[in-house]
Amino acid sequence: MLKREIPSLGVTVSRLGFGAMRMPERDGKIERVEATRMIAHMFEAGVTYFDTAYPYHNGESEEMLAGALRRFPRERFFLADKLPFLEYKSEADYKAVTEEQFSRLGMDYIDFHLLHAMNAKRWKFFKEIGVPQYQQELKRQGRIRFAGFSFHDSPEALEQILNDQPDWDFVQIQLNYFDWASSLRSGELYNMLADRGIPIIVMEPLRGGMLASLPPYAQDIIATRLPGVTPASLAYRWVGSLPYVDVILTGASTIAQAKENTAVFEDFSPLTQKEYDVIDEVLAAIAAKPSVPCTGCRYCVSACPQGINIPQVFYIYNEQGKFDCDGTTHWRYLNEMKPQERAENCIECGACVSQCPQKIDIPEELKVARKTIGEACKRAAAAESK
Ligand code: SF4
Ligand code: SF4
Repeated sequence: MLKREIPSLGVTVSRLGFGAMRMPERDGKIERVEATRMIAHMFEAGVTYFDTAYPYHNGESEEMLAGALRRFPRERFFLADKLPFLEYKSEADYKAVTEEQFSRLGMDYIDFHLLHAMNAKRWKFFKEIGVPQYQQELKRQGRIRFAGFSFHDSPEALEQILNDQPDWDFVQIQLNYFDWASSLRSGELYNMLADRGIPIIVMEPLRGGMLASLPPYAQDIIATRLPGVTPASLAYRWVGSLPYVDVILTGASTIAQAKENTAVFEDFSPLTQKEYDVIDEVLAAIAAKPSVPCTGCRYCVSACPQGINIPQVFYIYNEQGKFDCDGTTHWRYLNEMKPQERAENCIECGACVSQCPQKIDIPEELKVARKTIGEACKRAAAAESK
């Protein structure tokens, strides 16, 4: 297993980490026999970094992961856990959640402690209620070893957090070859952390699985130009070839996926120039798919009397067009959007159109998006009922 020394923290970690957020499930609960086998496989293959969070698997993940790791010597692995963002009213609230987390884990200390899913708004709130000081207090007490945060926002928001508090031990960001230069601007996040010498943990190297199950037009490019190379291994090796990435999290859901992932890092080779060229071809093919040029500025949203989340509809529509991701589209439309925010509520009043700097014909594009998303949802529902 490829290892990585992090001099600023005085530890050596496996380059591959296991994220316990997509473990196998049955009837809405973690399928424990299979999940335990998967975690054991990871440990035995040399993975030493295990990541969980308060809300994963509806609160089951922390206890499940810690329970599966308990048979191994505590000093042989690093546990990462995250303080969730909740409607804390006072210091007592987030302290109580932390104690609940330690109780679920049944462990004395957390190695990598993260403030979960940080963004500009949450950082402001956390500062107001004293969370960063509390995290440092946990560190002084030895209950956590390293203090960091996972991040979902713009480079400007990251810069603000790093300026406010420069001494972070590490930061976790979403990074993969698609999002390097997408609207997420992950490349800028990576460069900012690298410039400041802050260790980097990467989540979503497969972009929620999308880069492993690319649509046929993209898979064909890889199969033709790089016979025998899987899309998943290509995506992992792209991240692994970045010099300042320390740990890459995999969210495997099956033993087969876990084995494929550990194999990449047991016998790791950086990408060749030809492989970078093929990834460029894949990106060009994805970019050529028609999409609505929405930048997500949200100027249209406040003008809409129906409360439609126009940029989110276009985001889901664009992702469907590029990745043929019926299941993800279905899930996003049902879970990330309230019923009143969906495209079907458009009354074609046109109030949003003049607000759009991109001059998008929003009512017309919403009609197309609604049809495409609706068809994807039907296919996903049919596939799920089989
Ligand atoms: S045209 Fe549709 S999306 Fe635009 S403001 Fe009217 S109801 Fe909202
Ligand atoms: S105003 Fe235009 S670009 Fe901005 S979010 Fe709305 S549709 Fe997208």
